[in-house]
Amino acid sequence: MNTYLKTKTIQIDGSQGEGGGQILRTALALSMLTSIPFELVNIRAGRKKPGLMRQHLVCVQASQRISNATVEGAELHSQKLFFQPQQVQAGHYDFQIGSAGSTILVLQTLLPALMMQDQASQISIHGGTHNPMAPTADFIAHCFLPTIEKMGIHVDFECERAGFFPIGAGQINAVIHPWTKQTKYTALEKGQVIDLQGYAAALNIPDNIADRELEVLHNKLNLNTRKRINFKGISQGNTAFVVLNYAHHQQVFSALGEMRKSAEKVAHDLAKEVKAYLTTDAIADEYLADQLLLPMALGKGGEFTAQIISEHTKTQADMIQKFIDCEITFTELKENNWQIKVSV
Ligand code: AMP
Repeated sequence: MNTYLKTKTIQIDGSQGEGGGQILRTALALSMLTSIPFELVNIRAGRKKPGLMRQHLVCVQASQRISNATVEGAELHSQKLFFQPQQVQAGHYDFQIGSAGSTILVLQTLLPALMMQDQASQISIHGGTHNPMAPTADFIAHCFLPTIEKMGIHVDFECERAGFFPIGAGQINAVIHPWTKQTKYTALEKGQVIDLQGYAAALNIPDNIADRELEVLHNKLNLNTRKRINFKGISQGNTAFVVLNYAHHQQVFSALGEMRKSAEKVAHDLAKEVKAYLTTDAIADEYLADQLLLPMALGKGGEFTAQIISEHTKTQADMIQKFIDCEITFTELKENNWQIKVSV
């Protein structure tokens, strides 16, 4: 375990760097782990609708619930928050977002604190499972969780019902096991490509939307397998995703259907992202890169390669180094291939 910096309340400016919700979620996660209180001002100042949206508020309330925290400013649209946790309790929890806000981002907020407990926790979160600008349930199941499993973190995850904007009404369930065997994560080369799998789902809208996406993905990427999957749920929506299976890494790229965007265009844009990744030697795409930093910093550290270093990744590194005694460095190896090192 790291030696955590013991200080008084940490002051955080939510307008720094990326200026989004991730600053809040990371602050909550790290505060619960270190028992260091924080005061966050200018919450999500970099966003069109700043302050706490419903999903962010649920992140605060859920964190408060599992850590019995003292909280000030936990209201919709609030731009200032004080959070002082007590002991985190493993247990059975059920959280309702009450909108189509991302259940996955709530899970990612709670995961670090719960995986550090001696007992497993079982949590269900209700809301959106396939949201723009957030990892989808499929990205979590087939990319994020398999990657952190290599660090020894074990989570059983299921998307019981899919939830799309605006109705949401999705449900994810997760069993978070105690992190007993921490392993350094070293992943510099992805190795040989084993196969490319394409999936698409159309929930309560015509199936041919998913079929047309799979057709385009196959034509552009020469998939090894393609499959239409059936989601349960009462909302309407569409997603397509590609799982790229390499000898040393499994990466996922996902896309969501949008009003006034054809299924062909959705699949075309997704195939373009996949192709860009296929031409680099890097392990992690831009999104996985920012999501791996926290578990690495809490465990044994390590190093991996990433396609690009996003503002999210830089901001995440700054936030982690505010709370934890570790060093995160970025070195450009060549075009579209960066080495990220987390030294603990
Ligand atoms: P924020 O914008 O600050 O609320 O943070 C959004 C989080 O969602 C970041 O951790 C991103 O890496 C993640 N994210 C956004 N888009 C995707 C995507 N298409 N696939 C996977 N993760 C994503």
